[in-house]
Order: sequence, then C-alpha cells, then structure tokens
Amino acid sequence: MHSLKQTDPEISAIIAKEALRQEDELELIASENYTSRAVMEACGSVLTNKYSEGYVGKRYYGGNEYIDEMETLAIARAKELFGAEHVNIQPLSGSPANLAVYMAAVKPGDKVLGLKLDHGGHLSHGHPVNFSGLNYNFSQYEVDEKTQRIDMNKVREVALRERPKMIIAGFSAYSRDIDWKAFKSIADEVGAVTFADIAHIAGLIAGKALENPVAIFDIVTTTTHKTLRGPRGAIIMCKSRFQKDVDRTVFPGIQGGPHDHINAAKAVCFKEALQPSFRAYATQTIKNAQAMAGELMQRGYKILTDGTDNHLMVVDLRSKDVTGKIAEVALEKVGISCSRSTIPFDTRKALDPSGIRLGTPALTTRGMGTAEAILVAGLIDDAVRHHADDAKLNGIRAQIRELCRQFPLYGNDA
Ligand SMILES: *Cc1c(COP(=O)(O)O)cnc(C)c1O
Repeated sequence: MHSLKQTDPEISAIIAKEALRQEDELELIASENYTSRAVMEACGSVLTNKYSEGYVGKRYYGGNEYIDEMETLAIARAKELFGAEHVNIQPLSGSPANLAVYMAAVKPGDKVLGLKLDHGGHLSHGHPVNFSGLNYNFSQYEVDEKTQRIDMNKVREVALRERPKMIIAGFSAYSRDIDWKAFKSIADEVGAVTFADIAHIAGLIAGKALENPVAIFDIVTTTTHKTLRGPRGAIIMCKSRFQKDVDRTVFPGIQGGPHDHINAAKAVCFKEALQPSFRAYATQTIKNAQAMAGELMQRGYKILTDGTDNHLMVVDLRSKDVTGKIAEVALEKVGISCSRSTIPFDTRKALDPSGIRLGTPALTTRGMGTAEAILVAGLIDDAVRHHADDAKLNGIRAQIRELCRQFPLYGNDA
C-alpha cells in the first residue's frame, strides 16, 4: 500500500510543517501536551478499521475478540490508575463525556450547580450557548473577588438556596486545589449527585501529585489528552450504582461505535501513567508552574490567587497595560503558544480579555525543569514588554528556538 507521502503529498507536507512547529515552538497552552510515540502508534493502527458498537462481550458486530481484549485491558488499567469502581472508556471527547453524565444523572430542566466559565469553569458546566446551559437549569458559583479562590461557604450558600440535583466541581482555568470533601458534604446536605470534571488535572492526580476525587464523588469525567498525555478522548468513572445509566447513555444514548484505535491508545497512556516516572512528571509539572508563576510575580505580574497548586496560572495583565490579545499575539511572534483568558469580573470581552492562561504540562514533557521555567518566564516578560518592537521580538524568537533545540521532542522522524 502507498504511504501518506505518496498518496497525499499536500497533507503529508502540512503534517511535516506542524511537526516542525511543535519541535521549534514552546507550548504553554495549559490543555495541551505531547503524547508518546507509543500512543501515536496505537492511534495510527488497524484498529481504526473496526466497528464494535456495544460493550465487552455484548457487541452488535462480529470479529470483536481482540477489541474486547483491548477494551478489557484499558478498563482494568484505568480502574487501577484512579481507583474507580466502574470505568467507561468510550467517550469520544470531554464534552460528549459530560453530556453523557448529565443524561445519566439528571433530567432536562433539573437544577445543576457549576463554576462560571469566566471564573475558570468550562463551557459544558452550564454556559448559556452550550447544551448544558440550554437543557438544564443552571446556577453558577463564582470565585471570591478579593482572593480569586472558590469560597466553599459561598458554594454552600448557593446550594442551600437553589437545592440543585447535581453539583459540578472542576475547571479549565483555576490554579488552586479543590476541596472535594467539602463539595461532597454540601451535596449530601442538599441531596445532590456529585460530578467532578478533572479534565485538566487528571495527569496530576494519576501521578499522585494532587488529591483524587474518584473515591469521594459519584461520577468523575476526564479527557485523556491534557495532563494525562494520551490520545484525544475522554473516560467516565463512577460508583457502581451509576454504571448502568452511564453505559446506556454513552451507547446507545449518544454515540454509535467506539473509536477502538483511540481507546487502545488510551490503554497505552494509562500504562505509561502507572509507571513511577509519571509521578516524577506530575510533580515536576507543578514545580515548573510554581517557578514560572514566582518569576512572573517578581517581574510585577499579577497571577490570579497569587500562585498555583497545579499546572496552570492565569495572568492578569491589567497592571502591565496590555490586553490578553496583545500578549497572545506578541508571544505567538516569538514562538510561544498560550491562550488568552478572561479573568473573574473582567470588564473586557472574551475575544480580547484582560488575561492569558499559561501551563507547564507540555514543556515538562520535553524535559524542561525549573531553571527553564524561570528562563521562559523572563522571555514572556520580554516579549510582552516589547510587543510593538518586531526587531526585539525576532531576537527573542531566536532564543526560544535555541531552547527548544536543547530539548528535542520527537527528533527528525516525527
Ligand atoms: C477540556 C475540557 C473539557 C472538554 O474536552 P473536549 O475534549 O475539548 O471536549 C471538558 N471539561 C473541562 C474542565 C475541560 O478542561
């Protein structure tokens, strides 16, 4: 059979350009990471050819002997990694996994409580344009204006007032530990189902660097492609009493056939995350984030909550008189990818908000440590300060390229 290069030189060339970009640029988007070659090999395997609607031992198609073996192994590894009673590995991505949880645990129109998007939550936690906000009756809790932290007394106040059927804990842009037990006790008080969305921090939890909510919460979802460093996808973990409802909503409720090649890659990523080296990775990711945040604060930047307990930080740029968009564009020019971010109580619009979100999972995967994290913080500051000076930005670009070459990613045969 023909190779990609022979069959489709255009797409092949685009992939080669993207590989070079990833090699030569610094990835500080908190939700991104670099998978291993082993994970990519599973993604590109013949398992992509298979249909296997249903679950292990109960498929609607023939020829699933080996797929069943693969899915059984993936589930066993995920259970071991997170200590879950039940795992569904079939969700195609984080948002559909969350959709399945809503369908399994509450009814349309039911009251649900989640963290507001511009306070660090996710679209699927009740934003009005998302299926969650459209189909369920959401109340949202906020972070405290002074500390920028979630105040559990306020969460309790809202929960007692609103009496939600389900309470969501989890975030896309929040840098502090979550008090899982406090959420659980509030939920018990009002009789709500507890749902944790650990998409951002699953790798840090798997690496034992952060507290694991799986034993505490009823249902937990995570993407597999962020700190967990696997293929794009998600899983749902739950207590046995939610097993039937969760499985039924994933298939046939929402999805048809699972993506077996991706699920095999999830199994590979769980195996990698079970190794001692992954613990070191999780710990180092947090150390790097703390070093980067510390250096930025030294240089006069306001970091929300004045630091971080995890892999990410949100930088409030108002004291530097630049906007999130200006900073994002300047950083892109020097070869640093990050994402602009609203900050709580932001007076600016989402397309040009007051902050940027930075994360260290990807640069830690490259092998960078705290010395490099501090160096990168300095380069970020240089780029933001000289955002209008292209000659200066070009000089910083050269420094970033040099740094990346010291920490090669996949090498020449990506
Ligand atoms: C990334 C993320 C998701 C969505 O994952 P997708 O795979 O992009 O659909 C859901 N919840 C949280 C908290 C996230 O950070």
